[in-house]
Amino acid sequence: TQHVVIIGAGIVGTNLADELVSRGWKNITVVEQGPLHMPGGSTSHAPGLVFQVNASKTMTQLARYTVEKFKSLEKDGQNCFNQLGGLEVATTPERLEELKRKHGYASSWGIEARLITAEECFEKYPLLNKELVLGGLHIPNDGLALAARATQLLIERTSKAGVRYLGLTPVTGIEQGDRGVTGVITANGMIPADIVISCAGFWGVEVGAMIGLTIPLVPLAHQYAKTTSVPALAGRSVNSLQNGMNASMPILRHQDQDLYYREHGDQYGIGYYGHRPMPVNAASLGVTSKDVDEKNMPSRLDFTWEDFEPAWEETKRLLPVLQDCEISDGFNGVFSFTPDGGPIVGQAPHLNGFYVAEAVWVTHSAGVARAVAEVLTTGSSQIDITECDLSRFEEVQLTQTYISETSQQNFVEVYDIIHPLQPKESPRNLRTSPFYARQRELGAYFLEVGGWEIPYWYESNAELVKYLPAAWQPVKRDTWAARYYSPIAAAEAWKMRNAVAMYDMASFHRFQVTGPGAVQLLQRLCTSDVTAKPGSIIYTLLLNNNGGIRSDIFVARLADSLFQIGANSTTDLAYLTSEAARQSQQNPSQWVQARDITGSTCCIGLWGPRSRDVINEVSADDFSNKGLPYFSVKRVTIAGVPVTAMRKSYIGELGWELHASAEYGQHLWAALWKAGHPHGLIAAGRSAFNSLRLEKGYRIWGTDIRTEHDPYEAGVGSAITADKKEDYVGKAALQRRYQDAVPSPSRRLRCLTVEDRRSVLLGKEPIFHKNKAVGYVTSAGFGYTIGKPIAYGWLPSDVQQGEAVEIEYFGRRIKARVTVEPLYDSQMRRLYD
Ligand code: FAD
Repeated sequence: TQHVVIIGAGIVGTNLADELVSRGWKNITVVEQGPLHMPGGSTSHAPGLVFQVNASKTMTQLARYTVEKFKSLEKDGQNCFNQLGGLEVATTPERLEELKRKHGYASSWGIEARLITAEECFEKYPLLNKELVLGGLHIPNDGLALAARATQLLIERTSKAGVRYLGLTPVTGIEQGDRGVTGVITANGMIPADIVISCAGFWGVEVGAMIGLTIPLVPLAHQYAKTTSVPALAGRSVNSLQNGMNASMPILRHQDQDLYYREHGDQYGIGYYGHRPMPVNAASLGVTSKDVDEKNMPSRLDFTWEDFEPAWEETKRLLPVLQDCEISDGFNGVFSFTPDGGPIVGQAPHLNGFYVAEAVWVTHSAGVARAVAEVLTTGSSQIDITECDLSRFEEVQLTQTYISETSQQNFVEVYDIIHPLQPKESPRNLRTSPFYARQRELGAYFLEVGGWEIPYWYESNAELVKYLPAAWQPVKRDTWAARYYSPIAAAEAWKMRNAVAMYDMASFHRFQVTGPGAVQLLQRLCTSDVTAKPGSIIYTLLLNNNGGIRSDIFVARLADSLFQIGANSTTDLAYLTSEAARQSQQNPSQWVQARDITGSTCCIGLWGPRSRDVINEVSADDFSNKGLPYFSVKRVTIAGVPVTAMRKSYIGELGWELHASAEYGQHLWAALWKAGHPHGLIAAGRSAFNSLRLEKGYRIWGTDIRTEHDPYEAGVGSAITADKKEDYVGKAALQRRYQDAVPSPSRRLRCLTVEDRRSVLLGKEPIFHKNKAVGYVTSAGFGYTIGKPIAYGWLPSDVQQGEAVEIEYFGRRIKARVTVEPLYDSQMRRLYD
């Protein structure tokens, strides 16, 4: 069996050892630089509050499993979770609204939660200042994780099962061979390993550096303080490992002031995120001594009282009983922050067998550990962890400047109310397309995605709103749905459907797959047959070995051994490159290479019923149905520059994606713009685009569909070539799942329209059927062509087309109906003719 070495015996490393050993893996060694009874990392002082509900389904699921596991982790009749419930209070109207949204997430992800009045908050938490609180969200299954105790119980349990623990043993290097990792180097010698998982917490950066791997996290100090004993809690004792049990009120969050609270026997614990970011260099903390104790550990820095003062004043206002207390003990505790707030999990792109699981809260620890164990033992995890994947960061997001700035900003915003479309304020303008200068002239409103500046609409189209036919007039939106939105999008959609528009597609991921083994690689990874002759385009899926959709891609065959891939993310690139490298190594005559060409190329989507009039003015090539049929590709010349034209459209109109080398971009834009003028051409932004693609029913991977879904549930079964002879990843699993000729999944991605014709949803809202939460919205928007808001969402299959459902939005129920899809041009006439 394989030798596994886990670096770090914090809550993540010990849970991982446990998850692996319980799956039958042997030969596991956990190497820890600190003493095992108290390793001295973030876990050793973590107060362990577990608030499960998160806007992210993944994070909520990871937390739910952690709660279940800690509840079952028992010794001497006591487990490791005190299910006191969680209470989040609102002291501002904005927070009260945010809690309503959060209640929606809870229902969507299946966590019991209740919005409660100020009076009920006070009943559940009598120490609150009634004057301040406007209402709250109560989550009965939240509570306190006894993280330090859990770590010790896990060490005990896994040691009995054969896991070897080496305390006071810093890892100083990683050994590598031709095929990947071969061992870890410690002061006491080399430990052989086939698989190494770094669970080094905020030391992850240092361990990553041992193999030249950038780990995008920043260790930051976060203040935590305990009060002197509180008269109202008098008489309670505290036992350090079990101190979470001596509490009676829910764990409490006061996010308007960046504060959270728990009880420690007769004392209060106060956590504060309102202070300045305090970055720490883990390497500067030195070697963990063997004399770690509660007051002396590397992750515990001196308290800076001046940073805490506002928190203490606010705390005495919220909890007036503390007015007679003082702070008895405080510290600046170190843990990891990342550019997007998510954990960092996955395999190093360039070193086989080396994995990381870092920047993980106690809240998600067991969930992450289980997911990693599943990936190692079966190849994929039941909870989709793509959003945690190490490979999710774009190259520009891995510079030290970016990591440092955005991770610190993430600390600042950790409790803020963030709109789903809210862009970063900084850094901006890192990636701009060749059309950027023209877009600015046209008054583009930019949002940032993956470092790119993306135009959402153009002020130059504002005039058009006046001319919109009555049926196209946009509805007035509530203040939340009106953020990062302009009615100009309606005018842009109208033009796209009735004349012609051009759209900047430069930021869409484009890869090239080349080499004699290109066909073999794609045949092995894709659900469709990609062997069609050069000039064809195929929409296909990449599955994981569980039959779940790991991505959906477009494969354009440019030549026998040259493919251009339209993909979703850098994670797709990491997958294709690592699979290509593996194949090339195993079979050199079938070598193949996948590379990113996104930045070196650009793309304009030219779409609309009059797009052919425009293109014919600037190109002598044949753009007729015969010359370039739907879903085909060819090299053309447009206004004197070489272009790869692909006949396809994400918005459901006649037109092409025009791909060119980046240096031709400005010229291409200018030529199309000039030629298009007489035909009513406009530039349109992503806001209109999102609406038009919803009308057309095109799914977005990561939002509508994820690895937890299979192609039939997701409504993309047509991307599977039924008689494909070659085996491909996920084929067997899918066949096992559906033995019948006509797959009948138990849940489906459905299209819904909103009955009141005006409530625009934003995604993630729960869907109720017969008064029971049975599903959730994935993406939503206003369908300008059909004059109604649209939502896509997951529902059990027995909720049939035509049935009425309700969607919860800000605590209100909105009527919607499951409809036949697509809502626009189901005959595909606009695309084919
Ligand atoms: P750690 O516990 O830091 O473990 C990593 C281990 O790796 C360490 O023991 C370290 O010694 C070892 N190691 C590192 N490098 C090496 C090496 N080269 N060789 C050998 N060993 C090595 N989370 C919550 O969910 N809820 C909360 O309420 C909460 N409150 C917090 C309050 C404070 C003040 C702080 C600081 C954090 C809080 N957190 C909370 C976050 C949480 O504590 C951490 O995210 C979590 O403990 C991280 O666990 P870990 O196992 O990844 O890291």
